[in-house]
Amino acid sequence: AKVLLTGGSGFIAAHILELLLKRGYEVVTTVRSEDKASKIRAAHPNANLTVVIVPDIAQPDAFDEVVKTPGLEAVLHTASPFHFNFTDAKTELLDPAIMGTTSILKALKSSAPGVKRVVVTSSFASILSVAKLEDPTKVFSEADWNPNTYEQGAKGDDKAVSYRVSKTLAERAAWKFVDDEKPNFDLATINPPLVFGPVVHHINSLAAINTSNARFVDLIQGKMKDGVAPTGTHFWVDVRDVAKAHVEAMERTEAGGKRFFCTAGNFCNKEIVEIMKKKFPDLKDQLPGEDFKGGEYPEKGPPKCDNSRATKVLGIEWISLEKSVVDTVTSLQALGA
Ligand code: NDP
Repeated sequence: AKVLLTGGSGFIAAHILELLLKRGYEVVTTVRSEDKASKIRAAHPNANLTVVIVPDIAQPDAFDEVVKTPGLEAVLHTASPFHFNFTDAKTELLDPAIMGTTSILKALKSSAPGVKRVVVTSSFASILSVAKLEDPTKVFSEADWNPNTYEQGAKGDDKAVSYRVSKTLAERAAWKFVDDEKPNFDLATINPPLVFGPVVHHINSLAAINTSNARFVDLIQGKMKDGVAPTGTHFWVDVRDVAKAHVEAMERTEAGGKRFFCTAGNFCNKEIVEIMKKKFPDLKDQLPGEDFKGGEYPEKGPPKCDNSRATKVLGIEWISLEKSVVDTVTSLQALGA
């Protein structure tokens, strides 16, 4: 079967691409530059793979041509900005996220009648509410939606809020499109929190490390030696489980019409540091010493999660934090960290 994967150069998408090829799919993937396209082609020389350039996903007709690829049966839409180095939230973040999602769905409805399932990479950002992030009695699940508005995101004065709004409104737009337009396909969304895990080396460099692995680079480079940074949101998942969730959500009939909170559970930076100290004694000089401070859970404990839907419907077994940390650090060291 033939599958379209957008954003094939991304941290998560690189793992999805590997899994799709391993499972025997023919893959068409989009990236925005020839440089990235040639790296992906070179890494998969004998694969059943076509790499197509889509330079700007914020254009309403961005995907009009690629969706006409004959024989497409499923689409995985991962491309969306995940970084905080933007100056204009609307054009650099909200437009590519929201218009990128609606433009691909519109194009599929008009030109890809064979597509039966679309999987959109959403986020825990679309689930969380900031007020509950320090509430130990809260159990986050697929039933929750981020209440932030377009206006809050477009202001751009809080970059995390802008990112969260971009994901929330992109996901809402996808569900609304399917409800209103009754297209030939149904929808599933994958909503991961912070994604850790090994990077696929041909498309990554330390200087341009993906946002969610940045704390590992900081730790390896000694930047938290005198104080561990606050954790942020206390949920995480390994990238290999996220890739698997996408492919299972594409393959399993019963995943249609569902969002999936894909998380292995709670973590805090202190736990990451403890694992690194135990498993990488060579990093002793860069890591915090005994009785280090920072990166703890909130005093009353973190909020909780219900990941039972992804566990049952997608069959995810959840890689442990220790394995994920060890594999992430090993992979970053191979990149030169
Ligand atoms: P990456 O930054 O590695 O990947 C982002 C992908 O989107 C890249 O392929 C990137 O292309 C593409 N992209 C970004 N902006 C644009 C744009 N304006 N036009 C075209 N393509 C664009 O991050 P991840 O792999 O982590 O993110 C992939 C998806 O997962 C995103 O939708 C993100 O929101 C979501 N996600 C990530 C989480 C995480 O912790 N990593 C958590 C929850 C959700 P290029 O390589 O050219 O920059």
